[in-house]
Amino acid sequence: MAEKNVTIYGAGMSGLVAAINLAREGYAVRVHEREPAYGGSRIFNPSLHMTPLDVDETSNYLGIDISSAFLPLTELIAYFHDRPVGFPVKGIYAVERGDRPGSLDTLLYHQCLALGVEFVWNSRLDKQQLDHLPPHTIIACGMDPATYRLMGIPHMIWEAWISFGPTDLDTLTWAWMDEGINEYGYMTTANGMYFDMLFAMGQPVSKACLHKYQDFMLRIKGQEHKDWKYATGANPLGTWKQPRLSYGDAVLCGTISGTLDPMMGFGISGALVSGKVAALAITDPARAEADFKRFTRMYRYGYIFKKYIWWKLFRPYVGMMEMGIRILGADNIERVARRAVEERKHCPPIIPGFNFLGCN
Ligand SMILES: Cc1cc2nc3c(=O)[nH]c(=O)nc-3n(C[C@H](O)[C@H](O)[C@H](O)COP(=O)(O)OP(=O)(O)OC[C@H]3O[C@@H](n4cnc5c(N)ncnc54)[C@H](O)[C@@H]3O)c2cc1C
Repeated sequence: MAEKNVTIYGAGMSGLVAAINLAREGYAVRVHEREPAYGGSRIFNPSLHMTPLDVDETSNYLGIDISSAFLPLTELIAYFHDRPVGFPVKGIYAVERGDRPGSLDTLLYHQCLALGVEFVWNSRLDKQQLDHLPPHTIIACGMDPATYRLMGIPHMIWEAWISFGPTDLDTLTWAWMDEGINEYGYMTTANGMYFDMLFAMGQPVSKACLHKYQDFMLRIKGQEHKDWKYATGANPLGTWKQPRLSYGDAVLCGTISGTLDPMMGFGISGALVSGKVAALAITDPARAEADFKRFTRMYRYGYIFKKYIWWKLFRPYVGMMEMGIRILGADNIERVARRAVEERKHCPPIIPGFNFLGCN
């Protein structure tokens, strides 16, 4: 009976996917979560994320119908300072995280309950537990810096201003680029809620940059959000070698395993499939290794491109990119992007999970 027990740390999306798959295989699954209830980290949830995803392929791979949590975007616009470029929204979705009724966490958590998964709240993976992990342990602790430090996993710290609240806007996303940050500001709306985030990697985000973003929002988008809080987290962009499925005898799962698109920071699709991979690591290790390799094979290229080309040659020069858009014409760029997406017959979007180029 002992080897039919599984311990999971982290009741976020990847941990819950792993729990569902293993409970279905007859394992007694116990999930330890540092928060007092499901819904992921209270630091940044409830939140709305935007992700390219093949919902059907991903549902098939997971064995879980996740379609009700993924809402198709109606609009996606990137702003370089004030200059907009529209992008095709085919295959791009908003998804809610947290414990509200429409969230992905709620969908997965209820399936766990129906399968008899046991939850231990306010239970944090700490040094003592890490030194005495039981067999069949899965670590799915997301973006918690303390856990990366505890485990010695190379990482970068992101810092952000975050705001969320009610809205009557449709399901849409905008992104905003400025020299004050090396990432971007973005707002996604869905389920009557907005989630707004201005973030940078490895550096703080100044109040002056927040004020510039707020000014952009008011002038260009007619939106004003008053409540902003400062948040930090970790992501596995510490090294190009990061994707790894194991930590000693334990299985790594979700973003902490490196299943994240280094370029844009998309982590939803990778975390979902890695939940299934982590379950396979217990029931069918050879298949887990093969699938993990497949889903993360573009990571190193994305990492190298971002660190040595994007951050050095392009990202600091938003004014130049703005000028390039003016010369090429935003309409022409949008037309080319639309054609690329529509003609992507042999290269479907992000199947069944993480892939930097969106090609299989
Ligand atoms: C603010 C924000 C915005 C984002 N926006 C996007 C986006 O637009 N598109 C996109 O694709 N991706 C986005 N991402 C990334 C994406 O959300 C993550 O990659 C993904 O949610 C990670 O899933 P996970 O299962 O690995 O971790 P999570 O879903 O974060 O779950 C981790 C769980 O582990 C718990 N935990 C942490 N440490 C411990 C511990 N020591 N012991 C026990 N439990 C612990 C946490 O409380 C949490 O419940 C964003 C991330 C953040 C933080």
